[in-house]
Amino acid sequence: MDQQEAVDSIAKDQRLRLKRMTWGFGSQVSTWLVIAGLYLFGMIPGLPIAIYFLLILAANLVFVALIQSNINLRFKDPSLTAAQIITPIWPAVFVMFFVADPQARTAFLLAATSGMMFGSFVLTRRGMLSVGAFILTSYLALLTALHLFAPERMDWRVELIIVFTYASVLLTVAYLGSYIASIRLKLKEKNRELAELAACDPLTQLPNRRSLMSQLTQEVARVERRSADEHELCVSMLDVDHFKRINDTWGHDAGDAILCRISNELRKIMRQGDFLGRFGGEEFIVILPESTLEAAQRTAERIQDCVASLAFPELPDGERITVSQGLAIYQPGERIETTLKRADEALYIAKENGRNQIIVSDIPERT
Ligand code: GH3
Ligand code: MG
Ligand code: MG
Repeated sequence: MDQQEAVDSIAKDQRLRLKRMTWGFGSQVSTWLVIAGLYLFGMIPGLPIAIYFLLILAANLVFVALIQSNINLRFKDPSLTAAQIITPIWPAVFVMFFVADPQARTAFLLAATSGMMFGSFVLTRRGMLSVGAFILTSYLALLTALHLFAPERMDWRVELIIVFTYASVLLTVAYLGSYIASIRLKLKEKNRELAELAACDPLTQLPNRRSLMSQLTQEVARVERRSADEHELCVSMLDVDHFKRINDTWGHDAGDAILCRISNELRKIMRQGDFLGRFGGEEFIVILPESTLEAAQRTAERIQDCVASLAFPELPDGERITVSQGLAIYQPGERIETTLKRADEALYIAKENGRNQIIVSDIPERT
């Protein structure tokens, strides 16, 4: 990833965080509805509500400012998830103080629980438990304030039962939430393994045909984006010579071992950015991005020499293996299948001409 791409990726993450913040409002809507209902039914005065919404507005503006100024990037979790979950709790606790009916306060607790569910996407079990403990402590602080300043608005017996119930609910949510989070993580890991498996040839461990084709598609997109003179794309189709005879004479297992050995040795001499894969059977493809035809020819020669110099324990002393290659350079605007077809035709000529050689495909006439 070059520097520009890294900067782009951070900017994209930051935009995503801002977007997720607006979803976070969704989880607060239930609390807002509870407050609106209590106000409509005359169970709470207007002033604390006005203060509540001002506090919420200020808190959210602070979060937006933190993200827009990139200050959030200095934190371990740049999404500031835990902070965004717990910040609306204090204003809510403030409003709850003014609620006349103790039973109505439990509605807030339910709403806070739904906010906590959001945390299960990112927080660890410890994080979830800490958020739960924070909510509970805030509620206990509220009860203490009520006990001191407005004892007529609370009944300790009811509150004890509420606090106990709420503690057990929070514990359950924290455990279930972190369990769900761990399952998500395992699924992600499994998906990654499956994707790797689907892209890999089991015998040689090289990228398989599917993976080669997707790599080629990406390379073509890259060439088309940039000026073609600077960034050329070459493809070599490689086929082991007389492989059927090797199999027939020394056995299929020997053939397998030889294919693996060739794959390993070629993998070693590939330059960074070059891409080697098994196209099928004893055919391989080398993708050479950002390479001129001359440079690609030199790489192809290196491959010829590498294979020809290998001594195989499966074969009698002195018996060598050769390969033939058809080399083609991608023409801007053409389908990659056409490039591959030209490489294949060049390979066919290499075989016709006696094998153990490289043939370069003619550049087609521009129409
Ligand atoms: P040429 O020089 O013209 O390429 O001759 P060739 O014998 O290599 O070509 P042909 O296409 O006739 O035979 C390819 C052989 O490769 C046939 C097949 O049994 C063998 N082969 C393909 N895949 C494997 C494999 O995974 N393991 C082994 N041991 N043999 C394989
Ligand atoms: Mg073949
Ligand atoms: Mg062959």
